[in-house]
Amino acid sequence: MTTHFYRPTRALINLEAIKENVRQLKEYLQPNVQIMAVVKANAYGHGDVEVAEAAIEAGATILAVATPDEALHLRNFFPNIEILILGYSPGSFAQVAANKNITLTAFSTEWISNLNLDYNNAPLKVHIKIDTGMGRIGVTTISEFLSLYELIGSTDGLMLDGVFTHFATADEEDDSYFVKQETKFKEFIQMLPKKPRLVHAANTATMLTKETSLHYDAVRFGISMYGLAPSPYIKTKLPFPIQQAFSLESELVAVKLLQKGESVGYGATFTANEPTYVGTIPIGYADGLIRKLAGQEVLVDGKRVPIIGRICMDQCMIALPTAYNIGEKVTLIGKQKDEEITIDEWATKVETINYEIPCIITARVPRVHFANNKF
Ligand SMILES: *Cc1c(COP(=O)(O)O)cnc(C)c1O
Repeated sequence: MTTHFYRPTRALINLEAIKENVRQLKEYLQPNVQIMAVVKANAYGHGDVEVAEAAIEAGATILAVATPDEALHLRNFFPNIEILILGYSPGSFAQVAANKNITLTAFSTEWISNLNLDYNNAPLKVHIKIDTGMGRIGVTTISEFLSLYELIGSTDGLMLDGVFTHFATADEEDDSYFVKQETKFKEFIQMLPKKPRLVHAANTATMLTKETSLHYDAVRFGISMYGLAPSPYIKTKLPFPIQQAFSLESELVAVKLLQKGESVGYGATFTANEPTYVGTIPIGYADGLIRKLAGQEVLVDGKRVPIIGRICMDQCMIALPTAYNIGEKVTLIGKQKDEEITIDEWATKVETINYEIPCIITARVPRVHFANNKF
């Protein structure tokens, strides 16, 4: 898929890295465990259709998203793959989901009673969500769980296809809360009169660092499919190497020599204390280069140079060691020669988690996908 765009700012997505991350996981898992590729939020900002296609090619058999609209978008491109919505779906979506073979998350009896279903059609598949400690959606007691199980069984047009939970602290070194959740999940699962087709619990941190018995029938592969570790702690525990798929590039569109005492940007917060070459790059906070990234380094000609002054909405300025030409490549995230700026480096700079970084690069930045080092 090539879409034309004029501004030389783009996110490059290495689909070969995504495939390799999935292949490595597949090798690590027992052969009967299915891989659910978590492609919610436009595949964590990487491009949902292209990532889904790469993941399926590498061995994923189920797609997981967060919302009905994300599921419908993918269904247009993948008529047959299993799709699960992990989050909330309104009752008004139930019939569309049944018609399009999209599986929903059932999290209370009340939710079931609000479903708008026409019972003549294909059944609506649901997975029960057990809240073992996240405190968001899901049943929290065994009696609620069994009532929901029975209600699904006795409602025409519904089919119970799975049961799952989600861990709150799987990425931390202290596993005491994790063990409580794990124990609670096992207690619930034991109460099932009949095991549904898919029991699943493992997010990336769980599947890569906890006992393999927690893989159950499927694992939900999110952050490390994109080549990022769930936390700095997990980064030291990974059972196989992962490759970051996301990079962010632009070009110099203007270069000028600032004299001593001259300033750059809104508020004139940067003032040259010696003659300084300044380059302008066409990316700003409306692209997700948030103002807190002022001072962050970028790569030019394999060297680290800083963003200077305040970041504007659509542009920002960098200090250059010499007068580079217009059109010189600028790498904001990714590699040049021996240098690399990682998503983790940005996350540290803006005091957040790596998950948030590709998600906040806005839709104005085109995602350009490539594989085998070609694009
Ligand atoms: C987002 C999400 C995942 C994926 O989490 P990672 O840490 O990225 O692996 C798994 N399960 C649920 C329920 C989620 O919402």
